[in-house]
Order: sequence, then structure tokens, then C-alpha cells
Amino acid sequence: MKDLFYALVPAAGFGARMGHVVPKQYMNLAGQPMIYHAIATLCNNPEISTVFVVLAPDDEGWRTFDWTEFDEKLQPLFCGGETRAESVLNGLLASELELDDWVLVHDAARPCLSAGQLSHLLEELRNDAVGGLLAVPVADTLKRADAMQRIAHTESRAGLWQAQTPQMFRAGLLIKALENTPGVTDEASAVEALGFFPKLVSSDSSNFKVTYPQDIQLAELLLQQGNRS
Ligand code: C5P
Repeated sequence: MKDLFYALVPAAGFGARMGHVVPKQYMNLAGQPMIYHAIATLCNNPEISTVFVVLAPDDEGWRTFDWTEFDEKLQPLFCGGETRAESVLNGLLASELELDDWVLVHDAARPCLSAGQLSHLLEELRNDAVGGLLAVPVADTLKRADAMQRIAHTESRAGLWQAQTPQMFRAGLLIKALENTPGVTDEASAVEALGFFPKLVSSDSSNFKVTYPQDIQLAELLLQQGNRS
């Protein structure tokens, strides 16, 4: 039986760190709402059959944009929760996927995911027993701060990776994991808590999360350079 791949984009957050009145996913980025770019990359992958977008129940932004180019492949779900993990779990339950289906959870706030990074993730994990995520080995030296914002000590960066998205797991395992550990900031943490060892798939820093206002310019530069090919 051929594996089926689905994407789920949690987009029910507000993005308080952007200090903006428009929810982060709808901020203008290279002429489109930020969330458009990740949706386009996911929808353009021929192996991904449906892209679910989890929105807040009272979302007012989604319908103000034209999504018709993505046709039936794009499915908005107005069932976001209080936290990212809750939004993902609500979306998984609403999507009615089979337990064995692969789901790629991807942040709306990572617009620079490239087609190449996405297909690399699929190749590395399609035969994996657990699943995994895109990630980058930590490059900077890490400092632990004290209460006075002075260096308490230097942490070893050996073996440390920064987790990105997409994070790719079978729907059944992911639902079980998120029901078991609801307070996590990414899907892999919940799967780890069940005793599994998700795989780290090498990515690069271009797939960064737009978090602060100064990140917008860098994201636009990357998108304009055709980073997504
Ligand atoms: O705020 P942060 O950048 O960590 O959010 C990561 C992703 O999770 C974003 O795409 C955001 O919209 C989503 N999210 C959500 N529901 C929440 C909080 C965040 O879908 N309650």
C-alpha cells in the first residue's frame, strides 16, 4: 500500500513578539500574507495530498485572501486552541486522517521552507519507524545567563540541534503523544515523552521562524532570491 502524506499548518497564534496588530500569519511578506509562502511550498509538493490549516475559531483574516489557486488541496479548519500543541491536536482530530497516514506539521511562521528541504525530509523519513523533523546543528557558542544577565557559565554545544518544522509523524502516534503530553512546544517532544527517538534530518538556517520584526526583511530577501526552488 502506498503511503499518504498530509500537511497541517497551525496558524491560530497571534505572534505577540512581533508587536503588531495584524496576526503574524497575515502580515505582508513579499506581497502575500506570511502563511501563503509555506502553504504554496506544501501544496506544490505532488506527494502531499491535502494541506490543513488550523485557524482560531474567531479568525477574521483567512477569508479576506484569495486561496482559489490551491483548490481542494487546501482545507482550513477553524478549531485552533489556546496553545500550539492544542491547535495541532484539534486539527488532527478534525482532519479525520487514518492512524497510519503521515502528517507533516509546519509552522505558518516558517515561510522560507524550500521545496528541496521538504523533499529531503520526505526521502529521509518515508521508511522510518518513528518519524522526525528538520533541524540544524547549533553553530553559536551557548551562554547560560544569571539573573543579572551576566554569564553564569558556557554550555557545551556538542550534539545540540535546533528543531525546525516540518515535523513528520504518523497521525495515530502524534494524536496519542499530544494527548499524553499537552504542554509541549513541538511535536517531537511529545513523541519523545512516549519513549521514541525521532530522527534529526539536516536542514539549514534559511528555514528559520519569523519571530521578531527584524526577521521580516531577511525572509523577504530569501523569498525574492527564489530560495524555495
Ligand atoms: O508563536 P510561535 O511562533 O511559537 O507559533 C508557532 C506556530 O504555532 C505559528 O504558526 C502559530 O500561529 C501557531 N499557534 C497556533 N495556536 C496557538 C499558538 C500558536 O496554531 N494557540
